[in-house]
Amino acid sequence: DLTTYHPHKSVADQNRHHVIFPWTKQAGLKPKEIMRAEGVYVWDGSGKRYLDLAAQLACVNAGHQHPRIVRAIQEQAAKLCYAAPQFATEVRGRLAQMIAEVMPGDLNKVYFTSAGAEANEYAVKIARTVTGRPKIIARYRAYHGATHGAMSLTGDWRRAYNEPGMPGTVHAFQPYCYRCTFGQEPGSCARECLTSLEEIIQFENPEFVAAVIVETITGPSNGLYVPPDDYMPKLRALCDKYGIMLICDEVMSGWGRTGEWFAVNNWNVVPDIITTAKGLTNAQVPLGAVVVSGRIAEALEEQTLWAGSTYSGHALACAAGIAAIETYREEGLIENSRRLGTVLLSELQRIQQRHPTVGDVRGRGLFAAIELVKDRGTRAPLMPAREEPYATRGGLGAIKRALDEAGVMVFTRPNLIGISPPLNITEEQLMEGLAALDRALDHADAMLLE
Ligand code: PLP
Repeated sequence: DLTTYHPHKSVADQNRHHVIFPWTKQAGLKPKEIMRAEGVYVWDGSGKRYLDLAAQLACVNAGHQHPRIVRAIQEQAAKLCYAAPQFATEVRGRLAQMIAEVMPGDLNKVYFTSAGAEANEYAVKIARTVTGRPKIIARYRAYHGATHGAMSLTGDWRRAYNEPGMPGTVHAFQPYCYRCTFGQEPGSCARECLTSLEEIIQFENPEFVAAVIVETITGPSNGLYVPPDDYMPKLRALCDKYGIMLICDEVMSGWGRTGEWFAVNNWNVVPDIITTAKGLTNAQVPLGAVVVSGRIAEALEEQTLWAGSTYSGHALACAAGIAAIETYREEGLIENSRRLGTVLLSELQRIQQRHPTVGDVRGRGLFAAIELVKDRGTRAPLMPAREEPYATRGGLGAIKRALDEAGVMVFTRPNLIGISPPLNITEEQLMEGLAALDRALDHADAMLLE
């Protein structure tokens, strides 16, 4: 009975009574309690330890409770927690400068937000303001956040629940080479994903298109897709051809996740805007950022960006951001992600050989996924993909239970297991987690016999 007050018995019960959980109806929910965390581990309410191979939502890139970041937050809290965003603060200026230092090209000015979705909202606003054009082209199989505008950009079935969405939003297909929308194979295709995008641009009238927004490497929320090597440079050229801004959503793919500071660095592409959040503070305080090119920064000298929010550049978040970037630098976490990313991919390929249900393995750096199929020849999905409650929860049933029992957390979606551990995971810890995954996948293979 949710309407009467109960003296709550447990953390989970209390949460269930008073908290609305995301992306699901509330009935029947039994949230796992998380009581503490450290490094690559979290502990539940029974004291059981889990290896966090997901880094929660691919955000705790330097590991849980990183002491340097905890200390920076504590020290800042003692000094100055908050100043309104029209004032200049030491930590906001310093963090913006550090972000500019690690950003590609001339992306050198930052608008701070409180999260990734909000960063995408502002990126749209900035692109519209500076170009004077209304339309935004996003892509199917992409996640950009759950606020109104960001969910309009999001390219999956959940977007329908946000309708009527943001006017002027159009969707195109992205390269999903394992199941090419255009029936092609990456080795021999004509990059129909790009030629069709150009056709869409022309039909939408390029003079009305402010920006194309992409997840540079699409996160596991929609399947984890690494584009072919020429895709991002060609996308950049296509945007340039029509004077369209390229917005790269690096909320998840940024901060070393793909073995580079930002995923665009994999192809030396410089977008007009990068949006980010998550790893920016190691998720220890909420913070998002919209980072813009010199050209945009210059335009904003004369054009007003009609935007502002109470928490923009919150001092505690900025202090966490400074310490997080110092940590990534000094602990060599970008390099570790690149090095262990190679180990991860080859291990997943080895696992694929052992399990007929592993249809595809893909990834870059410590950002990888396996896709499950019934039949490698036909590539038919192992499980129905769109049935509630599977659609947002993963629905991997016995596979997930086996991992849970083994004390390993992964990111799950229908027919997809995403691996995105903290970047300071050791090779031994990674191998331990992958061994558990290997064993759990026996349950996937067993489904073939059902
Ligand atoms: N963009 C991408 C690529 C994401 O993965 C996410 C969150 O998972 C978001 C945007 C939204 O970020 P937030 O949840 O901080 O609003």
